[in-house]
Amino acid sequence: MRIQALPPQLINQIAAGEVVERPASVIKELVENSLDAGSSRIEVDIEQGGAKLIRVRDNGAGIHSDDLALALSRHATSKIASLAELERVSSMGFRGEALPSIASVSRLTIATRTEGQSTGWSITGDGGDQVTAPEPSAHPQGTTIEVRDLFYNTPARRKFMRAEKTEFSHIETQLKRLALSRFDVSFTLTHNRKEVFTLPLAEQPLEQERRLSGLLGSSFVEQVLHLDREQAGLSLRGWIAKPVFSRSQADMQYFYVNGRMIRDKLVSHAVRQAFQDVLFHGRHPAFVLYLDLDPMQVDVNVHPAKHEVRFRDSRMVHGFIYRTLHHVLAETRPGQEVDRNT
Ligand code: ADP
Ligand code: MG
Repeated sequence: MRIQALPPQLINQIAAGEVVERPASVIKELVENSLDAGSSRIEVDIEQGGAKLIRVRDNGAGIHSDDLALALSRHATSKIASLAELERVSSMGFRGEALPSIASVSRLTIATRTEGQSTGWSITGDGGDQVTAPEPSAHPQGTTIEVRDLFYNTPARRKFMRAEKTEFSHIETQLKRLALSRFDVSFTLTHNRKEVFTLPLAEQPLEQERRLSGLLGSSFVEQVLHLDREQAGLSLRGWIAKPVFSRSQADMQYFYVNGRMIRDKLVSHAVRQAFQDVLFHGRHPAFVLYLDLDPMQVDVNVHPAKHEVRFRDSRMVHGFIYRTLHHVLAETRPGQEVDRNT
């Protein structure tokens, strides 16, 4: 067989294989876009576990009507324009891949309005190469993206979708992670037109604890230690549960690097080591932690879904996390408290 260039739709469907594993991955990409657009309110509506409908509505910057078709083109982004910008990127997105990928495996509609435009605009794609020309459409400032019939044209993928309940539980988990990353944004989730949760803005400590309690349970919040340390350009903030609240599974561990939830061996190792002396074997700590550092010190362009990062100075990061947590935990030990009082 001779070599031939792949048609664009197939290229997008191949890319979708990497970033659109299931309905929850669509939520991640759409909500991250809403966050990048500076939204303060994000509403997510799901029908049938996301198989029928995923709708994300925000009050962010909106998309200019001249850019609407570009939003669905591959490698088109408003977030970076050069290698230098990639290296210090602080937005969630930058690859310009999510919308074209999602659009290639669903029926997708964007309705949007920017602050400067007097009317809203919308476009629709049908999963093929055809995208309608932008049409005027009533919409407040912000963007609504609707994804219908996910994987309808990729039967092999559709078969991998689980029961409605399972897919919805992945969606809920995903939205929790996002909601824990931005207390300055309100979130609403509905499933089959029933409200699942509403999280108001939570900028004051008490409101933050209310959000934590709503998402992770009140017993977590009752047993939690707050921390906030900064050193040499690294900052670690957040909450760790006291050792008495340890879990039998590692199911309550949220770690964010510059606002992005990640899974990282080095980070896990540092945390585990810090808890080593205070937890019984086989028990797992519960925590919500935010590490912030100069974007130049961390590479987020490791994997299309950006679950992983690479630290430039991983030893320094490991040491900082370990020392900070160790210190906070040591303060909670009865022996240490006596020491401090005497
Ligand atoms: P990326 O996020 O990597 O730039 P996407 O394919 O996710 O790529 O989105 C393409 C572009 O569409 C974005 O760069 C942004 O300009 C625009 N966009 C997508 N969603 C929104 C939104 N909710 N609000 C405003 N602009 C958006
Ligand atoms: Mg994006």
